[in-house]
Amino acid sequence: MAERLIVVGGDAAGMAAASQARRRRDGADLEIVAFERGHFTSYSACGIPYWISGLVPDRDALIARGAVTFREQFDIDVRLRHEVTAIDLDRREVVARDLDGGGEVRAGFDSLVYATGAVPVQPEWARGGIAGVFGVQTLDDGAALLGWLDREPRPRRAVVVGGGYIGVEMAEALLQHGLSVDLVEQGAQPMSTVDPDMGELVAAALRKVGISIRSGLTVTGLQERDGRIAAVVTAEGPIPADVVVLGLGVRPNTALAAAAGLPLGPTGGIRTDLRMRVPGMPGVWAAGDCVETLHRVSGLPVHIPLGTHANKQGRVAGINIGGGYATFPGVVGTAVTKVCDLEVGRTGLREPDAAAAGFEFVTVRAESTNRAGYYPGARPMTVKLIAERPGGRLLGAQIVGWSEAAKRIDALAVALWNGMTVDEMTALDLGYAPPFAPVWDPVLIAARRAVDALSRTER
Ligand SMILES: Cc1cc2nc3c(=O)[nH]c(=O)nc-3n(C[C@H](O)[C@H](O)[C@H](O)COP(=O)(O)OP(=O)(O)OC[C@H]3O[C@@H](n4cnc5c(N)ncnc54)[C@H](O)[C@@H]3O)c2cc1C
Repeated sequence: MAERLIVVGGDAAGMAAASQARRRRDGADLEIVAFERGHFTSYSACGIPYWISGLVPDRDALIARGAVTFREQFDIDVRLRHEVTAIDLDRREVVARDLDGGGEVRAGFDSLVYATGAVPVQPEWARGGIAGVFGVQTLDDGAALLGWLDREPRPRRAVVVGGGYIGVEMAEALLQHGLSVDLVEQGAQPMSTVDPDMGELVAAALRKVGISIRSGLTVTGLQERDGRIAAVVTAEGPIPADVVVLGLGVRPNTALAAAAGLPLGPTGGIRTDLRMRVPGMPGVWAAGDCVETLHRVSGLPVHIPLGTHANKQGRVAGINIGGGYATFPGVVGTAVTKVCDLEVGRTGLREPDAAAAGFEFVTVRAESTNRAGYYPGARPMTVKLIAERPGGRLLGAQIVGWSEAAKRIDALAVALWNGMTVDEMTALDLGYAPPFAPVWDPVLIAARRAVDALSRTER
């Protein structure tokens, strides 16, 4: 008789695990059932801002593989609109509610992949269900927001609450959709994934395109009029809004896991070993936004909910379930985004992270350009490096600049991953031609600056 793998959560991590397991074991050997409470599998939440802005024409472009494809081509039994409500590890059984048809399904398992993602942080004031207030976690959220934006009378004023990368991307999307946008952020600057001095560059770019930045301001409530949103309430008074988008961050979705006794780590994410097994729980795997992982620079557990990790972790779980061998060795915290034409990249530790982890360090900022100064389209680029003192090991890097800026972070991520010092980095053989870089690439200039700064601290 075939073993059965149950997957809870049918997006990036869950379906990557299911697909990899299937590639290695056929249906006669391994039956795979995936429960997904939403309407879609393998969709790109990452693409939602570009769908809202109008750049991506329709929702279906964001679906990599639908349930029918999984059933017909992968022999994976996907049960959409089925929410798993309990996991019984002793009986090795899950209970799922059929959200459309009603009723309950019980299914036994030999292996289980827990891949429920993350849940948006929702303060008390955001829980009232006021019409015109949206999250952007799922394609259904995106469709609901678009429906609101395109109905009459058309909303004109948007307020985005939270200036993380999703808030910033949504601010741009709403602007491009034709609305005026206020971005409210309680920290000193938007984009808290970079240090405030780099965040200031992002804030300046947002202002330049017409987004009003209200930083250092906390939202304390919402006001409604005639059953729809009218304003967000702050200590500095109300900010009028016809639509509000919440981007207050996410936390691991672990309620079901915790109830089943799966171990949670200090970040609140599920603990796993390198093969994505849940320790002490034979046959139980976890992957994606619901787990915590190792930060390879600080050595500390972190919860960094990104699609890139979810896909890799799911793949690792699936390979192992399929009888292969794979590990997920942790992250260095690399991420990129853009605000209109301004690109932002970051990897490793920010200054406060490096201090909290106990490092001594120097920081440098190098101002340069993305192309040779004389080449058409040359635009400014700022590279910030954080290097350990006195040895010079790279601890973190941030880049803000115009085209070709963000993906330069990848070279720095590789240097970081391999524990390179800034001194070693000054000799890196990076590509050069005038359309792509000045003769000294901004990354090399920053590395040289860091070497200088280190030598000054030695004197
Ligand atoms: C607007 C936006 C932009 C983003 N941009 C980027 C980006 O540019 N780059 C990047 O790397 N990442 C980005 N991300 C993050 C990325 O989308 C997530 O990290 C990724 O989707 C995580 O995959 P996952 O499978 O772990 O979780 P999810 O994608 O959240 O999938 C979990 C699934 O589990 C289902 N589920 C939960 N509980 C149950 C249950 N009890 N029963 C059945 N089903 C359940 C959910 O419905 C969901 O479909 C973005 C996210 C958003 C919201």
